Amino acid sequence: MLSPSEVMTRLVALCKRRGFVFPASEIYGGLNGFWDFGPLGVQLKNRLRDNWWRAMVECPPDGPDGRPLSIVGLDSAIIQHPRTWEASGHVGGFADPMQTCRKCKKLVRSDHIADLYRELGKPLPESQPLPCPYCGGDLTEPRQFNLMFESRVGAVEDDASKVYLRPETAQGIFLNYKNVLDTSRVKIPFGVAQIGKSFRNEVTPRNFIFRTREFEQMEMEFFCAPEDGMTWYEFWVAERLRWWESVGVARANLFPHVIPADEVAHYSKGTTDIEYKYPFTDPHFGELEGVAYRTDYDLTQHQTFSKTPLDYIDQENSRRYIPHVIEPASGLTRGVLVLLCEGYRYDESRASPEWLKIKPSLAPITCGIFPLVNKDGMPEVAEKLYRDLRRRFVCQYDPKQSIGKRYARMDEAGTPFCVTVDGTTLTDQTVTIRNRDTAQQERVALSQVEAYITARLGRE
Ligand code: ATP
Repeated sequence: MLSPSEVMTRLVALCKRRGFVFPASEIYGGLNGFWDFGPLGVQLKNRLRDNWWRAMVECPPDGPDGRPLSIVGLDSAIIQHPRTWEASGHVGGFADPMQTCRKCKKLVRSDHIADLYRELGKPLPESQPLPCPYCGGDLTEPRQFNLMFESRVGAVEDDASKVYLRPETAQGIFLNYKNVLDTSRVKIPFGVAQIGKSFRNEVTPRNFIFRTREFEQMEMEFFCAPEDGMTWYEFWVAERLRWWESVGVARANLFPHVIPADEVAHYSKGTTDIEYKYPFTDPHFGELEGVAYRTDYDLTQHQTFSKTPLDYIDQENSRRYIPHVIEPASGLTRGVLVLLCEGYRYDESRASPEWLKIKPSLAPITCGIFPLVNKDGMPEVAEKLYRDLRRRFVCQYDPKQSIGKRYARMDEAGTPFCVTVDGTTLTDQTVTIRNRDTAQQERVALSQVEAYITARLGRE
């Protein structure tokens, strides 16, 4: 058995070797907190993203009363009017306490010091305040450090041209709440969902793609009547847990962490973090998604700052109110990390010990197609099969190397099915299909390969 830190080291190496995740700007020495998604990584990320979009926007669950929910999509600009971030509280309060080591000059986030000791495998000192986890040196007093990246619009560099890269996608939803209401047929309760990039100048980006300075979020704001807020909050906590399970995360590795009342934001009536047992937090859990009951805080703030009425007119019950909001906010790139950690397997009894058990419908490549040898009529049959199947599934054709090595490459990519055209194919029109999880092969008629894969993807 590998230790959790060995798992992480090997997983990062596998991601680099097979093209899931590369350090950004690698040829220039990298840039701390930024990563690039390679051919397999972007495929996995897009599939997780599409699954979320389907489950939230195109086919959301039924509500507690058994009626279908109404949730619409949005894609708002990354840069919004700077007043947005004053109203949301990010200009004044989106800061982390930061300390610098006087000896090694490293920066640490005050609330991460204990975690850092654990991750570095060092015992936690009893002394308060704690010394630098890296070198034991003295730390400076904590200073507040705003996490928003600043930029400028236009040619003039003055205070009026200052803008921010969004630190969350959620505010773009609040700014468009009225547009959505006025242009679609939604009525309370309803949701608006958005997926996109967010930026935070994190003090200590770390743990691979867990905490980065550029990342993607999948967020939904669910607008409801104030008296129904608690019911919807509980509904979404349960629903989000169920969704993470549905994409292949074991329930035992998920933990709904109810944030104690004295630790939640002053406007929140309840927050539950959905946590995952990452190799670097094991045996503890770390955040994957936050589900927050945000009351009418954001809309009220934007109403005050923009002087635009944002109340909802309930014609049936002749009343007006600012809706309450439940926000399930998760990290897409952090979700990819969870699928990779969850899927990582190391099994010495297999010809190639490392493989990824990713749910077949989310795997970057669905089907590998190989001629057993690259001659004797086999490549022609395999290529024809490849041409047929790629219209339905993401396929990879690979005629090179020994068959064992080709299976191993597909195992590392998490490919659930490998189809091999061999000598027998030429006489009886059957191929072998190798199953990633069992490493067993079955003979299947060439004409049935598509149906075979379709049936197994549908059965999930
Ligand atoms: P923390 O307190 O750990 O900095 P947070 O509680 O501020 O995080 P939220 O603002 O609730 O995080 O963001 C919602 C989700 O966005 C998180 O659950 C996480 O999945 C993702 N996320 C937030 N910050 C980052 C980051 N720096 N890198 C990757 N994903 C992130």
